[in-house]
Amino acid sequence: MFYQDCPMSGTPEYDVVVVGSGAGGLVGALTAADAGLRALVVEKADTFGGTTALSGAGLWAPANLHVLAAGQPDSFELAREYLRNTVGDRTPQSMQDAFLVAAADVIAWLETKSVRFSYMTGYPDYRPDLAGALLTGRAITPKVFPHKRLGEVPAPVRPKLAMGHGGPPITDPGPEGPEWGGQSLIAQLLIACEAGGVDLWASTPFTDLVVEDGRVTGIRVLHDGEELAITARLGVLLASGGFERNEAMRKEHSVAPAARADWTLGVPENTGDGIRAGMALGAATDLLEDCWWAPGFVRPDGEVSFLLWERAAPGGIVVDRNGERWINEGTDYNTFGHRMLEAEANGRPAIPSWWVMDQHFVDEYGFGGLRPGVDTTPWVEAGALVRADTIEELAAAIGAPALVSTIERWNRSALAGVDEELGRGAEGSHERQLLSVFHRYPGIAGPHEHPNPCLAPIGDGPFYAGQVVLADLGTKGGLVCDESGHVLDKERRPLPGLYACGNTMASMMGHAYPGPGACITPAMAFGHVAVQNMAGSLDRAPA
Ligand SMILES: Cc1cc2nc3c(=O)[nH]c(=O)nc-3n(C[C@H](O)[C@H](O)[C@H](O)COP(=O)(O)OP(=O)(O)OC[C@H]3O[C@@H](n4cnc5c(N)ncnc54)[C@H](O)[C@@H]3O)c2cc1C
Repeated sequence: MFYQDCPMSGTPEYDVVVVGSGAGGLVGALTAADAGLRALVVEKADTFGGTTALSGAGLWAPANLHVLAAGQPDSFELAREYLRNTVGDRTPQSMQDAFLVAAADVIAWLETKSVRFSYMTGYPDYRPDLAGALLTGRAITPKVFPHKRLGEVPAPVRPKLAMGHGGPPITDPGPEGPEWGGQSLIAQLLIACEAGGVDLWASTPFTDLVVEDGRVTGIRVLHDGEELAITARLGVLLASGGFERNEAMRKEHSVAPAARADWTLGVPENTGDGIRAGMALGAATDLLEDCWWAPGFVRPDGEVSFLLWERAAPGGIVVDRNGERWINEGTDYNTFGHRMLEAEANGRPAIPSWWVMDQHFVDEYGFGGLRPGVDTTPWVEAGALVRADTIEELAAAIGAPALVSTIERWNRSALAGVDEELGRGAEGSHERQLLSVFHRYPGIAGPHEHPNPCLAPIGDGPFYAGQVVLADLGTKGGLVCDESGHVLDKERRPLPGLYACGNTMASMMGHAYPGPGACITPAMAFGHVAVQNMAGSLDRAPA
């Protein structure tokens, strides 16, 4: 049942109380309902879905039923090898294994709850050059949710971002088209939660944990400015996101100062409330300095666009503030962020960098939320884009003297079809060719007249430059949990009654981002096992 404001006084009692309504939180609540337990989700915002609702909801669930049905040669062992090669020993092997088991499981289970997914044909792992990677991909996404079914959704879904979730604007279905990505995932989960009898309270911020005799027995929330205690008989699942919107916490935990809290794409409510409550109880933390990094562009309205597909489209390049190309533009977004930080630390002025393109690129692909072919003048006048008739004038306008020779070299590479300097869409060595499977995936350009689909010359003016800032999709550090989502104290003992998932939990992905869906899938997987654990129904160990 959905309540805009929480409906009770006294001390409402539930079996499982979930804080936050991203995919992990809703999956946790649905798991409780499925086990015949009374479950409540409290949500700080007046809509449900958090950052998950804004996302593309690519889900990286190796060897799940859809991947196997699509004939992909995937297996637990192969994915395990790949995780070892990407995440390494930054997180315990047992956590990586637990993720692999639970991720495939949760997808199969959700299908039985009418939450539907389909295989994302050919979306490769982000490091196709590493052993265990699947070049043809192991990602799925929620099936599109038809507009005509919106009336079935029992509670308001957080509206999507104005500029979309980072997919190319040419695939935008328009306001009457089907909902996809995070919008579809949250809509489907809310319908399933309602069917299972989960209570959903909006506008109800969690403020603290209730602890009795060393056990978490409930939470405190604010309701109309008044504090209310809620009992959680079996446990509390903290699924309240990261602390990306909390500038003080970012500073305290050494999140790179070059990345500002107002450049995150995480929702404003994600201020670390769950993480701080866990820390106050003595929980261990990890990875607090890290984020799910993403190159971003600050639009004239001050909002940040996630630069995703643009970087695969041919004919645009990234240069540092001297005008030198320094990174393969097609590098996956999380690695891109880490490289920006490394470059700055090594004395290269890379934060912000510049995205440079010509009029053809803008007309063909758009950029940073500007739709293809749309007049750039308002964005130029607002200072978001710099425009010039010649490369020399653009170089002078952005104070990047090396830009002219960089573009001369780039154009030669583009015509030859080989990016000798940085290997974009590479021909060449075996490793480069494998890695380029990822650069080439989005297939934005399709066939064009140049030999390498990721390369095209920067040709006729006017020319444009837009700043590339270090943005993020959320923080990735948080409370240390065990294989069943149980929050651990500093001696690695479970804190009775307290569980976490999503960005409230220190990511088992370590510093890595192995493939599309590396954030949301662990949230769902550990939200599911955490509540199974609470219900006492977890009777299997990772293989
Ligand atoms: C444009 C974009 C595209 C993305 N694409 C993908 C993708 O394709 N695949 C992928 O894996 N990841 C993607 N991500 C990242 C991913 O969406 C997030 O990392 C993930 O959804 C975080 O999940 P979460 O449950 O931890 O947090 P959220 O989904 O943000 O949920 C947390 C919820 O907790 C609520 N909350 C916070 N504090 C409180 C409180 N005190 N009381 C009650 N409620 C509270 C918040 O309001 C929010 O609703 C993308 C992100 C963006 C912005």
